[in-house]
Parts: sequence; C-alpha cells; structure tokens
Amino acid sequence: MSNEVRSHTALHIIKGAIVKVLGEDAKWSTSASAKGLHGRIAVEFNRKPTEEEITEIGIRANEKIQEDAEIEVYEMSRGDAEARWGNLIYDKWPLPDHIQRVKVFHLPGWNVNCCGNEHTERTGTVGSIKITKTRYRKSKGVLEFSYDIED
Ligand SMILES: [Zn+2]
Repeated sequence: MSNEVRSHTALHIIKGAIVKVLGEDAKWSTSASAKGLHGRIAVEFNRKPTEEEITEIGIRANEKIQEDAEIEVYEMSRGDAEARWGNLIYDKWPLPDHIQRVKVFHLPGWNVNCCGNEHTERTGTVGSIKITKTRYRKSKGVLEFSYDIED
C-alpha cells in the first residue's frame, strides 16, 4: 500500500473525527491534500478550537484506525448518492454539473464523500495519525490541520 493511499485515506478519517468533535458547523472541507506521509485538511469553522478539542480529534481519529473498520467505495449516479446521503457527499468546492456519475468513499457512521482517489480497504492499514499543526484563520473562518502518518 503506497504512502499516498494511506495519507489520503487519513484525510477522510480525520475529517470524520473533526465533525464528531466540533459538530456539523465543521462539515464543509475547503481544501484537502496528501503527499507522501503528510497531509493537510481545512474546514470552515466559526471559532478557534480549544487544545482539548484538537487532542480529542487526534484520539478519535486513531481510535477509528484501531477499529480497523471496513471502508466502502461505491460508484453510482450522483442523484442516487444525493438521495442516500444528501449534501454530506460534497465539499466546499463545487463538483461540476457535467459529472453525473460519482465514486463515493463511505466509512459508515464516520465519513462519506465523493472521491475518485484510491483508498485502503480498512482503516487499520493507514497506521497512526499524528496532528502536527493546526491553524485557525479568523478572517476566512477556516481551520486547518496538518498531520503525519506513522507506522
Ligand atoms: Zn478519498
């Protein structure tokens, strides 16, 4: 399994943990990237989180990895995906209208997102996640997490 597949899959796991801890106000991703063993995800949010919340997000993400939960990937029409999960499948950046067939990443009870990238089959393959830096950009209302993947 390549590092990039692991660090990309970690994006979904961290995103799920962010929403579990900070709530639905944090559900819109504004950017996401993973390269090598590193990744970064940003979400819209209305305040700077506490240190305890950030620690909790890291703990929850790693608990989900330790569960070694099965990851589901679907390919379906956009309409069917919307009917099943609503706008949870989307990010802040738009999915162009001409895309009517989508791949969906689904980690039940945790994260669902339109995503065409490759993922690990189970969460345990990711390794462990270490949040290395967070930044809250008040003017933009954007909260950013940087992380490393470790074995
Ligand atoms: Zn993905």
